[in-house]
Amino acid sequence: MIQLYIPLNFLGVIYREIKQNLIDLEKMFTLMDREREVADAPGAEDLRTHGPVDVRFEHVDFAYEPARPILHDLSFSIPAGKTVAVVGPSGSGKSTLARLLYRFYDVGVSPAQSANTNAPAQPGGHGRILIAGQDIRGVTQSSVRRAIGIVPQDTVLFNDTIAYNIRYGRPEATDAQVEQAARAAHIHELIASLPKGYASMVGERGLKLSGGEKQRVAIARTLLKDPPILIFDEATSALDSRNERDIQAEIQNAARGKTTLVIAHRLSTVVDAHQILVMEHGQIIERGTHMELLLARGRYADMWALQQNAERSEENL
Ligand code: ATP
Repeated sequence: MIQLYIPLNFLGVIYREIKQNLIDLEKMFTLMDREREVADAPGAEDLRTHGPVDVRFEHVDFAYEPARPILHDLSFSIPAGKTVAVVGPSGSGKSTLARLLYRFYDVGVSPAQSANTNAPAQPGGHGRILIAGQDIRGVTQSSVRRAIGIVPQDTVLFNDTIAYNIRYGRPEATDAQVEQAARAAHIHELIASLPKGYASMVGERGLKLSGGEKQRVAIARTLLKDPPILIFDEATSALDSRNERDIQAEIQNAARGKTTLVIAHRLSTVVDAHQILVMEHGQIIERGTHMELLLARGRYADMWALQQNAERSEENL
């Protein structure tokens, strides 16, 4: 009993850790499909994603625990093919948006819960999230997750070959397609220089890749999956500035034509977003393009000035 309990408990800890940090959601859901927070409504159909795929949050309230509301009446939309970046202090609720979009949790009382009494009770609130006009509570979770590619902060690689790790985005992809994705993510040259090339083992028991290289593997995986929606959870750990600029360019490349949510920790990466949302205490306190927000001389403009000063003093060191 003890022996059974420890590994299950351990998996639970890892699951919570990964869910919390949005580390590698897709991998986690395959491994632990049984631990579901939300359930499909009986007879739920797949999300339809032909044509333009926009994302809308409408009056979304959310609380992980009933006594502590996190998001309050939050509305925004990402037009099909555009990029919305979210900035704000730690704990303001940025990652929660991504968790809700990926349907880790449901807002409001989902049709699944009212129809299925075995489903776990949800802390939650009101409002809805629509993808291509469809409430994500009313369609199958798996189809929502197929429609979304995530480049997490910290990519967890499988103890397998590098080809396997990239192909995970689309298992039926040919070797040529895997290589094409690796080239686009600028990781092909590194792979080609390894004695075993794409057959090189990576992960804990194989070749150790740097944070930037792992993120490139995640970008290649996402390019291969080619979903209509992308979530980029920007790494908080600083890459060197050249690496950061390169990764940023690759991310912009991957995001071209896709409906993209960027959770940004550095303002330099949001300048080109179609819209920037500034969050504080679970609310959007400002929104606009970089220029609009600078001209508004509000919180974003203050954050920008602070960051510019910090960068200047770093340069003078
Ligand atoms: P950071 O920039 O540090 O990643 P964030 O803006 O992404 O922060 P969130 O992770 O969305 O913030 O968290 C918003 C709030 O929700 C925080 O106060 C956090 O403590 C709380 N929170 C997050 N996950 C849970 C959870 N599973 N259970 C309870 N509270 C949570």
